[in-house]
Amino acid sequence: WRKDTVAVVTGANKGIGLEIVRQLARNGVTTILTARNEGRGQSAVSLLKAEGLQNVDFYQLEVTDLKSVEDFAAWLKLRYSGLDILINNAGIHSLDYTDKKQGARDVIDTNYYGVKNVTKELLPLIRTGGRIVNVSSRLGQLQTLNRKDLKQTLSSEEHLSENLIDLFVNEFLAAVNKGEITKQGWPTVDIVGTGPESASDYSVSKIALNAYTKLLAFQLSGRVHINSFCPGYTQTDMTGGLGDKTVKEGADTGVWLALLPPSCYDLPSGKFFGERVQIPF
Ligand code: NDP
Repeated sequence: WRKDTVAVVTGANKGIGLEIVRQLARNGVTTILTARNEGRGQSAVSLLKAEGLQNVDFYQLEVTDLKSVEDFAAWLKLRYSGLDILINNAGIHSLDYTDKKQGARDVIDTNYYGVKNVTKELLPLIRTGGRIVNVSSRLGQLQTLNRKDLKQTLSSEEHLSENLIDLFVNEFLAAVNKGEITKQGWPTVDIVGTGPESASDYSVSKIALNAYTKLLAFQLSGRVHINSFCPGYTQTDMTGGLGDKTVKEGADTGVWLALLPPSCYDLPSGKFFGERVQIPF
């Protein structure tokens, strides 16, 4: 990588995102730590600077707010004239919501539409040979879906379109409103014993994200390499500190994908990884 390589990480004031910034900056990459909250973001930057990482910059970015994303793109263009690596890390789950319908909408908005907002706005600024890494989850593997028709639609690279993925998440939100998640065959993933439908929205958001990753890789045909990965069950606020991986381990595959040398034979694009190994969508 060139000395002036620039990376952007979303939702990076804590957890896996913060660790990705740390590891990229340690590798000499100028890294822009973005966070939706100015104070939490600046504190994270101060922490990294105190560790000796002076090549970390900050911008306040709310991924669900188009204006915020547009302002960021304009700033990035002016200040760095472009970027090489985009890590779409910001994400939420809805376990804390009492209003499950609102929770599902917010999860889809952040984990799927948020990634699309940022990616679309920044894509024209990503230099040729650049990388996009989407932080996804094994809960977003197609095997969690008990719907043959939808599995087929999302597996077909030929027929996949953004419109189809949007329809997929809309169909899910309609099922949530009707209280028919299980009946209609949507994923029923129980995480940490919180009920069979507790993480359905999270799972659907990551299925959509994986499909979007695949679609974009096809459209970009190698100009920019885009992949998604699952960090594994990682000790962060999202898991209440539970998990069998430290943030250092959780961030590893994402940083590896971002920094695979440009000369690497057969650079992956449109693939899904866990522990540096390709896994099924
Ligand atoms: P954390 O809850 O620790 O961090 C999530 C980060 O995303 C926070 O910085 C949060 O900001 C930010 N964020 C949330 N919503 C927005 C938004 N609308 N705009 C900008 N930033 C936002 O979780 P993790 O570090 O565990 O999660 C990081 C990614 O890893 C997520 O995409 C998650 O789905 C994925 N993942 C995590 C796993 C795990 O076991 N931990 C397993 C599989 C996937 P704030 O502090 O302001 O809330």
